[in-house]
Amino acid sequence: MRLLVIGGSDAGIAAALRARELDPSVEVTVVVADAFPNFSICGLPYYLSGDVGDWRDLAHRTTNDLEQAGIGLLLDHTAQVVDPAAKQVTVTSQRGQRQLGYDRLVIGIGAVPVRPPIDGLDLPGVHVLHTMGDTFALHQALTAGRPLGGHRRGWLHRSGDGRGLHFPRPGGHRGRAGPGGHADRRLGAGSAVG
Ligand SMILES: Cc1cc2nc3c(=O)[nH]c(=O)nc-3n(C[C@H](O)[C@H](O)[C@H](O)COP(=O)(O)OP(=O)(O)OC[C@H]3O[C@@H](n4cnc5c(N)ncnc54)[C@H](O)[C@@H]3O)c2cc1C
Repeated sequence: MRLLVIGGSDAGIAAALRARELDPSVEVTVVVADAFPNFSICGLPYYLSGDVGDWRDLAHRTTNDLEQAGIGLLLDHTAQVVDPAAKQVTVTSQRGQRQLGYDRLVIGIGAVPVRPPIDGLDLPGVHVLHTMGDTFALHQALTAGRPLGGHRRGWLHRSGDGRGLHFPRPGGHRGRAGPGGHADRRLGAGSAVG
């Protein structure tokens, strides 16, 4: 049985690992749009704050770990079209386009962040933080031309209760970066970098 999984983050990798656990004869292929399978998206703020020093440590499992578990990875491949009648998915990569056949298909491609209608959101220095690519761009913006020392890192710091990262605001109000604080976090990140 050929299982094709689109998406290589929490949902896609969990599905792939579970399928192999239930039936080691299943041929599992995971198509991932970027080169960072099984990275901790929740850990991105901790890399930016310096709590995680090396971005590679955000990986729950290495590519090698996943391959050892019997999962075939197609990194930097983007699924474009699903044809359920033919049981085929069209994927593209730098090497062009190809068709992948499947018996069962799992789609775990996450979500696209909503950009609320806030004036200035398109200005340089305002970032979305969702993918590893976003993280590298924000990290570069934070560090470009100036060391990311205690002052800049001070924009992102742990709360006393350890439940999230906070962005100090003018006037002392803190935007919460834990679960449920997403809108605040986005505004805070923009003001920290811009
Ligand atoms: C900054 C940040 C902090 C967070 N902190 C927490 C937290 O503390 N606690 C918590 O519970 N949750 C947190 N979350 C939410 C959590 O990260 C997500 O719920 C989780 O990552 C969703 O996993 P997913 O696999 O569904 O999607 P995603 O993690 O979004 O992964 C989508 C995957 O699909 C791939 N993909 C997308 N389109 C295609 C395509 N067309 N073809 C091939 N591959 C494709 C992507 O490359 C990626 O591998 C946080 C999210 C962010 C952004």
